Amino acid sequence: MSTSKSQSELLFERAKRVSPGGVHSPVRAFKGVGGTPRFIRSACGAELEDVDGKRYIDFCMSWGPLIFGHQDEEVAEAVRAALARGWSFGAAEPYSLELAELLTGALPWVEKVRFVNSGTEAVMAALRLARGATGRSKIVKFDGCYHGHVDSMLVRAGSGLAEMASPDSAGVSKAVANETIVVPLNDLAALEQAFELHGRDVAAVIVEPVPANNGLLPHAEGFLARMCEIARRHGALVIFDEVITGFRVAFGGMAERTGLRPDLVTYGKIIGGGFPVGAYGGRAELLDLVAPSGPVYQAGTLSANPVAMAAGIAMLKKLRRENPYAQLEARVETLSREIEKLAIGHDVSVQRFASMFWFVFGKVTSRDGVVRAPGETPASQKERYARAFHSLLDQGIYFAPSGYEVSFLSTAHTEEQLSRVTAAIGDTLAAEKGR
Ligand SMILES: *Cc1c(COP(=O)(O)O)cnc(C)c1O
Repeated sequence: MSTSKSQSELLFERAKRVSPGGVHSPVRAFKGVGGTPRFIRSACGAELEDVDGKRYIDFCMSWGPLIFGHQDEEVAEAVRAALARGWSFGAAEPYSLELAELLTGALPWVEKVRFVNSGTEAVMAALRLARGATGRSKIVKFDGCYHGHVDSMLVRAGSGLAEMASPDSAGVSKAVANETIVVPLNDLAALEQAFELHGRDVAAVIVEPVPANNGLLPHAEGFLARMCEIARRHGALVIFDEVITGFRVAFGGMAERTGLRPDLVTYGKIIGGGFPVGAYGGRAELLDLVAPSGPVYQAGTLSANPVAMAAGIAMLKKLRRENPYAQLEARVETLSREIEKLAIGHDVSVQRFASMFWFVFGKVTSRDGVVRAPGETPASQKERYARAFHSLLDQGIYFAPSGYEVSFLSTAHTEEQLSRVTAAIGDTLAAEKGR
């Protein structure tokens, strides 16, 4: 057996010398599963290729943006055409206008929109706008929803229900954490209580309309509608953070699927076609409060970058034309059913929503048998997922390197690839049992 190091191992050693943990976003470092992260040198369709020349069927898909797979030809062509015209003007240009008109024309709850460079930036700006619009300072968020690395969102629940939050990252000040109220997911009584205690100070409630950053934790039926009703009764705005769900669960995300109308909405991931784009939008009277038309300041040197705008336009036009949602959803349903058949007797289940799915390793003990809050995830999740992850990685299948991240199906995944994945999962479960 060869003991020489792989190219990924060599690069990781070098990367750790020059960047924290060797990466530029934490989950990429494989800390959740152990081992050496694979350094990817190229990707095409549903496949990644690492620097050692090994290929993987990819279900991470850059964490969601690539709904048509890697190197989609329409996006690639749009980007090449944009590059030929120059790649940053720092001035008014027609490309962001086209994308803005595409959005406002298709999504009635987006009367106006502002482009930024990431989902985090979109959330940060939407929260500031909500505070500016209401003159209130507090934000209600749910434990188990992720909203990017905005200071006020990097918080965890305080000691009592509806208590002020405490920092969940070093470097977040107590004062900032104090402006956030963290409520358990799917707990309408706690939400009511939070609003009764702090209602007059709450600028907005922010929610992932399908929580998909701590596993996939679908809200119970009716939760979102009641949440909107409670917030509005207290004069607070409703922010749907659709950075993952926007253009993923339907073109118009969960606002379209539920018929609920957020006051503000944030987008990211798919909206840039794999390039760094975020956006926040909502009612015109709210967006008109943003500089230069209003007093809420927000700016960006590279905002609405023309190459990224071109990628986003190509992506969203193709999504509108091809409307792949029903087919993606049906394929995830079939895949999940096949995996669950193999998983009988293994205490593994699959939670899914549209083209997203998540493996649950362990017995689910919640009342309806669905994990709907982080505390309901089985204790065995981390360790069992890590073992399965490495078994699948060895077989050329790349799931997200953490048991708390969801998987994404793209239109580029072939039936042959899905059959290979199902077989590999069957082998993995059988081997686990035989340990
Ligand atoms: C990914 C994500 C973010 C953060 O977006 P970045 O582009 O990583 O900054 C915010 N909210 C949700 C719901 C997300 O899924």
